[in-house]
Amino acid sequence: MSPASLDKPLTLALSKGRIFDETMPLLAAAGVEVAESPESSRKLILPTSSPDLQLIIVRASDVPTYVQYGAADFGIAGKDVLYEHAAQHPGGLYQPIDLNIARCRLCVAVRRGFDYEAAVHQGSRLRVATKYVQAAREHFAAKGVYVDIIKLYGSMELAPLVGLADAIVDLVSTGGTLKANNLVAVEEVAQISSRLIVNQASLKTRAAKLQPLLDAFAQASQAQA
Ligand code: ATP
Ligand code: MG
Repeated sequence: MSPASLDKPLTLALSKGRIFDETMPLLAAAGVEVAESPESSRKLILPTSSPDLQLIIVRASDVPTYVQYGAADFGIAGKDVLYEHAAQHPGGLYQPIDLNIARCRLCVAVRRGFDYEAAVHQGSRLRVATKYVQAAREHFAAKGVYVDIIKLYGSMELAPLVGLADAIVDLVSTGGTLKANNLVAVEEVAQISSRLIVNQASLKTRAAKLQPLLDAFAQASQAQA
């Protein structure tokens, strides 16, 4: 007889928006359909067509936390989020697959007309507003530029416009938001896509249910690359 936990469905943690949308084709490739969308349903636990799998809908930056503590067996999170999480909780997550979804770039952006080249010579000092404190700190340290980091939680584009910062470090996909706010990207910090992350204990104790899904995701994401 098997312990009850082995019969529970696997739990996959996802954020709504582009990660949820771009994960649906990967689930479909594994033969799993999801009837409800988190946009129209207010449910935070969504069943799937497989009795072996349920989804939980959490904030993008909370996905690693649910997986690390085992409240979700696995999850999908951007490298931006994983990088910041790892700075606080080193070594806790197994990251087997780059899914090549939700792609964008982490960039430095400034007000149009701001002389960035002049502002970042060796030994200079810059005020940088960002949600990505760790990535920003390392980017400028590697250039030998001193930065005063101002932590924000959203709407970073506003900071250079109202004199809170000289520059921002933010995610850019089409560039439409920067353009609408008279900002320009001046440097790439990192290329971003989402990775699958797996709880270490689940990987060992629930491999029979987990491995076929990991294999299907790996195959479907390679087809996307
Ligand atoms: P929240 O809105 O819950 O505070 P968030 O803004 O980080 O969190 P989303 O906007 O849903 O969450 O973005 C989730 C993930 O999607 C990001 O962490 C990133 O990896 C990816 N992504 C891809 N392109 C973009 C983009 N242009 N802007 C923001 N995120 C993007
Ligand atoms: Mg958002």
